[in-house]
Amino acid sequence: MALLSTTDFPHQIVKTEGFAHKRIDLHSHTNCSDGSLSPQSLIDRAANFQIDVLAITDHDTVAGIDIAQKYIEEKKIPLKLITGIEISTAWQGFEIHIVGLNIDKENCDLQALIVKQQEAREQRAISMGEKLAKCGFSTVYADAKEMAGQGSITRAHFAKVLHQQGHVNTMQQAFDKYIGKKGSKGQRAYVKPNWCSIEEAVQAIHQAGGSAVMAHPIRYDLSAKWLRRLIVHFSEVAGDGLEVVLPQMNPEQRRKMLAYCEEYNLFSSMGSDFHYPNKWSDLGRNLTMPVGAKPVWAQWQ
Ligand code: AMP
Ligand code: MN
Ligand code: MN
Ligand code: MN
Repeated sequence: MALLSTTDFPHQIVKTEGFAHKRIDLHSHTNCSDGSLSPQSLIDRAANFQIDVLAITDHDTVAGIDIAQKYIEEKKIPLKLITGIEISTAWQGFEIHIVGLNIDKENCDLQALIVKQQEAREQRAISMGEKLAKCGFSTVYADAKEMAGQGSITRAHFAKVLHQQGHVNTMQQAFDKYIGKKGSKGQRAYVKPNWCSIEEAVQAIHQAGGSAVMAHPIRYDLSAKWLRRLIVHFSEVAGDGLEVVLPQMNPEQRRKMLAYCEEYNLFSSMGSDFHYPNKWSDLGRNLTMPVGAKPVWAQWQ
């Protein structure tokens, strides 16, 4: 028997009339995945920056949401928290990130996908640890695991450990020398992950009543031809929107993303992809929805 999904019973009505002229950031991370701040500290930072609407979108987990929501209520912080997730997917040999926004995190399809993704993360982490041990770094898996704690284990944890142990000079170097994928095979300790497809991610997000947004389309290092193919595929599998506003984007890139949204009838989203305090980007900084864009929150009335 088919289970009823929450799409039949909208889990929450987010009143978005009040979104105009608000500070909105729909992409951020906590230490429940590879962010450096706890959910509480992230909320404090958002409040200090007078953010009105914040989505927490940790990698393949929703563990930070309840902690953040409880803190908002306890401290009576005037902040609307949007329940989100960033799901890693595989498409044509590329790793594409799909952000789910305004989701019912208890939805069983979404929960099942999270379990699968967590297994894929754990398996990849073990294999990566074995490869790094062969490079002479025997404790990296155990240390990365300890650093991740109960949260999603990511390559950012491995990069941080390799850096802390002095095996690389920067986290970026850890990706460039060991765990990144440049070229078809990847670096010495690269392990091909067993992510779900874009379609599975979009479907789970929709079952959970949310909007599926392609994260940072400009960061996949794709030629114009491949980026268009990706956007065509994403729209064919019923993806809802693209992130058209990111701190690192230049006006020309933003204009191109907006044009794709118009061409494929997609909504627009915006977010900082905040991981840790740094001088280049921060929560809510330089995020303004361009005039003429169809904001993703228009789906949440
Ligand atoms: P994972 O999802 O486990 O593959 O981890 C990837 C995460 O590592 C990304 O979400 C980024 O936050 C971080 N990261 C930092 N530098 C890089 C890089 N050069 N390539 C890929 N990921 C990076
Ligand atoms: Mn990350
Ligand atoms: Mn991402
Ligand atoms: Mn992200």
